[in-house]
Amino acid sequence: MENQQHMVLLSSPGLGHLIPVIELGKRFVFHHNLKITIIAFTSHTSHAEKHVLKTATSCGFMDIVEIPPPDISSVIDPDAAVVTRLCVMMREGVPAIRDALSKLAGTATVRPSALIVDIFGTEALGVAEELKMRKYVFVASHAWFLSLLIYAPTLDKQVQGQYVDQKEPFQIPGCTPLRPEDVVDPMLDRNDKQYQEYLGFCNGIPKGDGVLVNTWETLQQKELESLRNRNLLGGILKAPVYAVGPLVRLPDSEMSQGIEWLTHWLDGQREESVIYVSFGSGGTMSCEQMTELAWGLELSGQRFIWVLRAPIDAADAAFFTTGSDGRDEDGSKLSKYLPEGFSSRTYNVGVLVSQWGPQVDILRHPSVGGFLSHCGWNSALESITNGVPMVAWPLYAEQRMNATLLVEELGVAVRPRVLPTKKVVDRDEIASMVREIMVVEEDCNKVKKKNPIRERVKAIERSAVEALSKGGALAQVVARSE
Ligand code: UDP
Repeated sequence: MENQQHMVLLSSPGLGHLIPVIELGKRFVFHHNLKITIIAFTSHTSHAEKHVLKTATSCGFMDIVEIPPPDISSVIDPDAAVVTRLCVMMREGVPAIRDALSKLAGTATVRPSALIVDIFGTEALGVAEELKMRKYVFVASHAWFLSLLIYAPTLDKQVQGQYVDQKEPFQIPGCTPLRPEDVVDPMLDRNDKQYQEYLGFCNGIPKGDGVLVNTWETLQQKELESLRNRNLLGGILKAPVYAVGPLVRLPDSEMSQGIEWLTHWLDGQREESVIYVSFGSGGTMSCEQMTELAWGLELSGQRFIWVLRAPIDAADAAFFTTGSDGRDEDGSKLSKYLPEGFSSRTYNVGVLVSQWGPQVDILRHPSVGGFLSHCGWNSALESITNGVPMVAWPLYAEQRMNATLLVEELGVAVRPRVLPTKKVVDRDEIASMVREIMVVEEDCNKVKKKNPIRERVKAIERSAVEALSKGGALAQVVARSE
């Protein structure tokens, strides 16, 4: 189409990054009639990744330029943390990104006017500058997290010693203070390389011409105000902040193929009677915790769908490998990790799905009434926009912050007394949390009482629908990039 504006989005490796970037791209295409090209580091080892890529291009207005992740084996330690690996891959990948962007700038029918990178891609902002394109950073999480990223270099100067050893919460201007136990993964150990990498991309964010964040004005008004206030965080971040959320996936027919049996099973259940259990694109847990979770689900007496992965001690062990052919194990094989007799005792009460579930289809089904979630922001938004309350089970990245936001500020989730990555959450507590969000109590006249958590999530769902109907702030980004 002549004169159609063209933008390029850059995704760092990992489905948890690619999925929101694609959603952002779709919003530009369907709501603003843009031509979108996504540059993505893809490994082609995962069925889920192949499906996600295929459906992204099916709309016709979105092209994907795939770049193989650079070989970083000679540059970093094989045990390096996920954040270190991501940052090094993106840095080493800059020449390939430059090639891809230059080619697009030279050959595309309409020259791209802007580059939007995710938080791991800030080193590529310089390439956009070289090519005289506008440049933006997309934070696929919420405004409190963005505030922390912007304020991290200041905290680095203010705080002595390890963050986790501090007694008092960290004050981030205009935001809820952040408890030491809720800091993001790269802040856990200041001596680890990932901390320097983290400070590197935190310093990179203000270099963009603007920041897009996956939240909406009424959800995080105070955080957004402080990010924009010249005397508070706006003093560090001079570029405008656009609340473009909630960006959530809609079900897609491609991903839903082969799950007719699951839909059929859900169709046969009572309304809001099934809890969905999943730990995102990369979450895993220890064998002991998996056993307790199985017992907890059984003891809760609730129906469930559980996306199951082989147990492993590191919480983010599947980040680069989820659904990869090497790790695919069918549900029957995975049941060897579960308590003896679990599968037969929960036959027809619970369903086990191996590795990767059609999450969006599941969460929007009327029979689903709860989500035991690792609190990745995409998952949290998918739950909220379907009016589904959560059990918050944070594992890594910024998930502890997300859990605190969901439980304490928004009141849409309950959480265990201990952090699931530090101690094992026992079966009784799991059963009790599941029942708290799922069971509808009756008063002495047998009238059903309202579940306050469910009521709150439905109210926030309505505010999300309203934000979507107003179109969010993408129109401003489009207008500034013409
Ligand atoms: N997802 C899915 N099926 C799964 C696990 C995850 O479809 O079995 C999707 C989920 O719907 C979400 C994304 O993967 O869109 C995960 O993103 P999130 O921010 O929740 O967590 P992350 O994976 O980044 O930790």
